[in-house]
Amino acid sequence: MQVCSESSQCEFFLAYAHQPAFRKEHFNYFCFGPLAENCARRIFHQEKGLTQRADYSPTGLIFNP
Ligand code: SF4
Repeated sequence: MQVCSESSQCEFFLAYAHQPAFRKEHFNYFCFGPLAENCARRIFHQEKGLTQRADYSPTGLIFNP
């Protein structure tokens, strides 16, 4: 399992990686999984050069743990 290359500076990852809801919904698929390239946070950062609010999730929805 390889972690997303943006994880060390990703506010979402740093804020929620320890939470069970995060692991269930995002951990296996995006941050540590095959969908990292499709992460909405990652795409936004690459396209706009800006970072989203911390609770903007990889799916593009606001994360409510
Ligand atoms: S939320 Fe997206 S950018 Fe952040 S660590 Fe996970 S896959 Fe990478």
